[in-house]
Amino acid sequence: MSDCLFCQIIAGKMPATVAYRDEQIIAIRDINPQAPTHILVLPRQHLASVTDAQARDESLLGALLRAAARIAEQEGLQHSGFRLVANTGPDAGQSVGHLHFHLLGGRAMAWPPG
Ligand code: AMP
Ligand code: ZN
Repeated sequence: MSDCLFCQIIAGKMPATVAYRDEQIIAIRDINPQAPTHILVLPRQHLASVTDAQARDESLLGALLRAAARIAEQEGLQHSGFRLVANTGPDAGQSVGHLHFHLLGGRAMAWPPG
């Protein structure tokens, strides 16, 4: 997807600070962090959101969650905790149409979210 910001980052056409990468997944530091640790975990394959995922993408979805847990450990958040968020659609405020999990940690967080 040439007009997708995250596809451009994945292709190396836009700069980003990479926190993790493997064959299927790349994780970058959010440009506008909302917590001391704010990392975006994204599939290299373009999917618009979780609602775009098909049965064939189930192992990829699992891999994203497992990668997020590994990154949280790498960031030292395994004991203090962290939040994983996939904003989906307008009401949730999704602003980039490429599936991603926000990994947030390093401070106590309120619930419910705003
Ligand atoms: P969402 O609004 O849930 O779709 O999340 C998109 C996130 O991407 C926001 O938290 C933005 O701050 C972040 N973002 C936008 N552009 C960049 C960029 N060039 N590099 C890293 N993060 C970005
Ligand atoms: Zn994309």
